[in-house]
Amino acid sequence: MFGIQKKSDLRKEEEMSKPLIVFEDVSMAYDERDPVLKNVALSIQEGEFVSFVGPSGAGKSTLMRLLYAEEFSTKGTVYFGGRPTTDIKRRLLPYYRRNFGLVFQDFKLLPNKTVFENVAFALEVAGWTTKNIKREIPGILAVVGLEKKSDMYPYQLSGGESQRVSLARALVHRPHVLVADEPTGNLDPKATRDIMNLLLKMNEFGATVLLATHAKDIVDDLGKRVIALEEGVVVRDEANGRYSL
Ligand code: ADP
Repeated sequence: MFGIQKKSDLRKEEEMSKPLIVFEDVSMAYDERDPVLKNVALSIQEGEFVSFVGPSGAGKSTLMRLLYAEEFSTKGTVYFGGRPTTDIKRRLLPYYRRNFGLVFQDFKLLPNKTVFENVAFALEVAGWTTKNIKREIPGILAVVGLEKKSDMYPYQLSGGESQRVSLARALVHRPHVLVADEPTGNLDPKATRDIMNLLLKMNEFGATVLLATHAKDIVDDLGKRVIALEEGVVVRDEANGRYSL
């Protein structure tokens, strides 16, 4: 009050202003090839919604893979929550990855499992009991509007519904960060809007959202931060950005 802050409040503010994600001069090359990311420097605060744009092959997916530690930089450091991803012990990587909910263009659903089982599988792998899984999943399916499709198989679903299953699966561990890599690439405009609205809803609930997309209209409508990559280099990073200049 009156400009005097308690020490604990100051510490809290300091914590909150620390970025969740930092790329410090990050370069990455697959095998012995030329780097596909070059000296990338960026920081993202908890709760941001960031769109990554740029031509195919610019390095958007690679950048995301470095974040969820599926790949590692060849130069520079990727920090999540202040900690370099290279510090995470191999056996702890699956736990680390639960910070991230991943959604891809091709849904990656298991074809011989129902909607319920596809979402349940992520929890089974994490050692949840059947009882707890049964208790948890209806709520998650309701969030994405699929409570009535629980017993259907992927081949019985539309593209939009399939992507909503994959989003439900991404949400099971209540991830800090939703990584959506071209999530609407295979969807019609209506399904695209549904998925985008869900991503925005997750963001409102506090999730940090990283979206890689070629959907110009979506990015322009969002009015959120845009980071543009070209040949592995960040060429633009704007709050309230647009798809192209
Ligand atoms: P974007 O997501 O922007 O389309 P990517 O990160 O997928 O870009 O690809 C960046 C570059 O890295 C491309 O030239 C691509 O061919 C190459 N690349 C991507 N994945 C691999 C891989 N697993 N092995 C070798 N090269 C790869």
